[in-house]
Amino acid sequence: MPGPGGPGRRASFLTEEEKQQAPKITGALLRRVFSYLAPYWKQLALVLVCIAIASVCAMLPSILTGNIIDVLTGRDLGGWIGGGLSALVRLILLSLALNLAGNLIGVGETYLNNWIAQHISYDMRNQMYRHLQKMSQRFFTSANQGDIITRMTSDISGVESVITGTFTSILSNVITLTVAVVAMFRKNWILALVGMAAVPLFVLPTRLAGKKRWKLAGEAQACNDEINGILNETLSVSGQLLVKLFGREKAEYARYEEANGRMIRLNIRERMAGRWFLTMLSTLMTVGPMLLYLAGGILIMRYDSRLSVGDITVLVALLGRMYGPVNSLLNMQVEWIRSMAMFTRIFEYYDMKPEIDDRPDAKELTNAKGEIAFEDVSFSYDGEKLTLKNIRFTLHSGDCVAIVGPSGSGKSTIVNLIPRLWDPTEGRVTFDGTDVRDLTLHSLREEIGVVTQETYLFNGTIRENLLYAKPDATEEEMIQACRKANIYDFIQRQPEGLDTEVGNRGLKLSGGEKQRISIARVLLKDPALLIFDEATSALDSISEAAIQAAINPLIEERTSILIAHRLSTILAADEILVVRDGEIVERGTHAELVHAGGTYQELYETQFKGAEDAPEEREKTPREESGETSGRTPPEKKA
Ligand code: ADP
Repeated sequence: MPGPGGPGRRASFLTEEEKQQAPKITGALLRRVFSYLAPYWKQLALVLVCIAIASVCAMLPSILTGNIIDVLTGRDLGGWIGGGLSALVRLILLSLALNLAGNLIGVGETYLNNWIAQHISYDMRNQMYRHLQKMSQRFFTSANQGDIITRMTSDISGVESVITGTFTSILSNVITLTVAVVAMFRKNWILALVGMAAVPLFVLPTRLAGKKRWKLAGEAQACNDEINGILNETLSVSGQLLVKLFGREKAEYARYEEANGRMIRLNIRERMAGRWFLTMLSTLMTVGPMLLYLAGGILIMRYDSRLSVGDITVLVALLGRMYGPVNSLLNMQVEWIRSMAMFTRIFEYYDMKPEIDDRPDAKELTNAKGEIAFEDVSFSYDGEKLTLKNIRFTLHSGDCVAIVGPSGSGKSTIVNLIPRLWDPTEGRVTFDGTDVRDLTLHSLREEIGVVTQETYLFNGTIRENLLYAKPDATEEEMIQACRKANIYDFIQRQPEGLDTEVGNRGLKLSGGEKQRISIARVLLKDPALLIFDEATSALDSISEAAIQAAINPLIEERTSILIAHRLSTILAADEILVVRDGEIVERGTHAELVHAGGTYQELYETQFKGAEDAPEEREKTPREESGETSGRTPPEKKA
């Protein structure tokens, strides 16, 4: 690690928060961390060898410098080196060769090291992504979105730097220090002790000064995060819209300017603290060598020691090489705890059990007919308050049920239990007579098509959005689906046709167009059960009519559930379930409910009427005309 502070903006001490959250380092944790390194043990072993050789190669020239000076001052070193000009040349060449060798090995080591780190983080990222995909709706609705992204990006990138930084720096520092200390003591133990005594002199004050600097850096970072938050909030498409519509430009600017100002003041203070820090550092760094010169001089002049000028030069050079590693090793504990905390956070995510998963003995749903039954289903989001109470109804294959009720009564919650976005707290939901929890999630969801109120289109072309449902769909199939969804005319009018870009989240299209594309997408999937969740509520009456025209034939041919806000939708259903406060309070046909004096009548008077023709004047649906009432449970009113 370069210098006392370490790389980047990482403090060389633990913050209070980090101390509190320091993980308990157990054998199990270590084994788990090392299990990620294990597949790369061969490369790791090679890295260790490289580091060892490179560290020694880097140290030796410092020692040879002493010999060079001795030869210069006329000494004969004996052995194969000897004295005179030839010895000088030999020593110089040897130094250069060692240096070059050390550097070349260093290049190889860096490559290997990064290769290992990248591969480990590749493994961990993939594992995390797969795991997150399995997490339930509860996880995504309650977990902080930023937190998820941080785990995926920062924490796993942190793992890379642990491997390229922490692990390797420990090793190379230990080797460098050992070589330095051994070499110093071999030269002269008295001077070696003097040199050691100088180390704390340098290390301690710089650590104290470092703390101050990192505190400022931390504040600047927090301020920077705040600024990013403001930018994200106010410069996004919807954020800008909000700012404009509420005329908040001035206020937002003031907020931004204030944070921006605070940030530059912090930055200046931090940079200056850094500058003072450097000044102190370089002053203290000269104290050690001076002490060595003094002690060496005394030894030579007063005690006539056999010490040479070269020896003193070597000792000074070796001392200079010790500062970095000593500091870095002192920071080791901090790095170690931080790294383990990072691994612990990642493992916490890995250990979260997917709440909704396939049972070991789950069956495939085959030849689905789309017969749905709710058997006394109760459901609670938080384990306390019941959002649904004793929901009981059967939807026979080919039928259509409309769910109506005030907002927040639990309509969406009911339909979300079918594709197992959530599981019932009590009772069971069956699909073709089998509890949905006994079916594989994949085969179950394959047979359910949901068109939600908030249509989600990916940024891409209409074609790409359609293919999301069925990657191998033919052109003809896509056109058919678009025809059925009543959107083909629109697509044909576009110069690019199916290759028209929909824009970010489909923003280039109107609500009704998006809705119909999402219907086409669901149709391509060709599910046994169709669910329309308030599919028409956010639209004007022309768009609505277009969608209604698309939906009506579909519900004739498929089992479907409509969460309905409009009379035209409701009238198309075989049965209406009226939900209030999580309970089915009324059920029956429009004709049966409209004058019953209950919730339905109330909804009809306040919501459905007015917007539509009176029911008496409307045309009958084909089913009513044929007198078909299959699967209809008799009207039943609960208190
Ligand atoms: P509706 O579709 O009838 O408008 P919902 O089924 O969306 O009603 O919601 C029913 C109740 O459940 C509401 O009180 C709502 O606040 C609550 N709710 C919906 N989703 C969640 C969730 N993910 N976590 C906790 N409560 C929720």
